[in-house]
Amino acid sequence: MNKLSRIIVLFVFSILTNYALAQDKHIKPNFIIILADDLGYGDVGFTGSTQIKTPHIDALANAGVTFTQGYVSAPVCGPSRAGLMTGRNQVSFGFDNNPIVDLPQFDENFVGLPVDETTIADRLAELGYVNGLIGKWHLGEAEHFHPLKRGFHEFWGYLGGGHNYFANQPNGKPYPYKILCNYKEPQPITYITDDKGDECVDFIRRHKDEPFFLYASFNAPHAPMQATEEDLKLYAHIKDEKRRTYCAMVHRLDVNVGRIMKELKRQKIDENTVVVFFSDNGGPCHHNASLNMPLRGAKGTLLEGGIRVPFVMSWPEQLKAGVEYNYPVSSLDLTPTFVALAGGTVDNKARLDGVNIFPFINGDEAKRPHEEMLWRFTISAGIREGDWKLIRMPDRLPMLYNVKEDVSEQNDVADQHRERVERMLKKLGDWDISRPQVLYLEGNKWRREQVDLYDRKYQLVQPQD
Ligand code: CA
Repeated sequence: MNKLSRIIVLFVFSILTNYALAQDKHIKPNFIIILADDLGYGDVGFTGSTQIKTPHIDALANAGVTFTQGYVSAPVCGPSRAGLMTGRNQVSFGFDNNPIVDLPQFDENFVGLPVDETTIADRLAELGYVNGLIGKWHLGEAEHFHPLKRGFHEFWGYLGGGHNYFANQPNGKPYPYKILCNYKEPQPITYITDDKGDECVDFIRRHKDEPFFLYASFNAPHAPMQATEEDLKLYAHIKDEKRRTYCAMVHRLDVNVGRIMKELKRQKIDENTVVVFFSDNGGPCHHNASLNMPLRGAKGTLLEGGIRVPFVMSWPEQLKAGVEYNYPVSSLDLTPTFVALAGGTVDNKARLDGVNIFPFINGDEAKRPHEEMLWRFTISAGIREGDWKLIRMPDRLPMLYNVKEDVSEQNDVADQHRERVERMLKKLGDWDISRPQVLYLEGNKWRREQVDLYDRKYQLVQPQD
């Protein structure tokens, strides 16, 4: 090859490479998971709240797909997040319960997301993504569980399950967790929901030119119940102090969702960013005054109010706006979905329980993404098969509901469907006993509390004032 030919070949090669790189950059979407904590199903505008105004979350829902049956894999924080981070039902690696380190019989080196589990951040890092976690981790406090060792490149937040909202809050449950950060010296918090919003905006600005995954892990509206005076004034008409505070906390979460969305627009990357918003579990009505209507049950139960959450996905470039998707989907689906959209594949050996839901929600696949879903938490276990859901508890006969016809689970029809109950119970039992040993247990008092949560009365209609 003469010199001229070599130059031409190099020139063409360089154009093709640059073109491929540009295409690659264009094709890979950014991903943002905005996770609310203990948000009630009925407490955002798009699920029918009459009291709480959430214009920014509603705008996100209107811009994308609303899942009317969006589930999480556990009715409490830690296990739900373990499922979210791996795409595997966390029960399959013993993460049934919240990581609790003060039980003497458990070795704290095993109280966290097992290190041989691959996280969504690990998978996206391999595909060239820069990953940031802002906020709550709750997947182990020992050094080897640290988010920076689990695929995240940046972390601003805390390792445990909760945090005070103000720097010096005399009331409310104290959380001992320090704000940790690997890219700057963390400043004292102002109001933590705003501080997290600040960090999310900053992350987007710094990484706008490369594919990124941002896990915006808010603690609002999880207890302690703490809101700013300014936000409390917006809900001054609500007499119940806890409910008033809760509404103000959800308002502040909504404001910060709006700030994230605005920054994407400002950086002109909103079209090619997939944003998913949901809650890590249902509302614990009796603790934070959340409301799950029309669903019965609460955080901690496998009734719909514990596991079905407000859930939206938006991606202006590829998904139609204003679409409602009515088959069940799961937070476990986000790992395989993101990996597929990023151009990767997940090996079958990874044994994910989630599926890539993109072909289902864009209409290429007409069937259900999941024929069945399974849950286990402390003394309860549940299975959904088609539109039927069976819940098994230690102190009563199994409960069976048709959650399509009876979304509020008012009519236990187990008596009328004996064969179905037997079949579902068998499937659930086989799954249950084939799981590995749990890594650690919830404190014993939660066993009684679980039972009580199934027997309580729940408000099933929106408040009118
Ligand atoms: Ca939670």
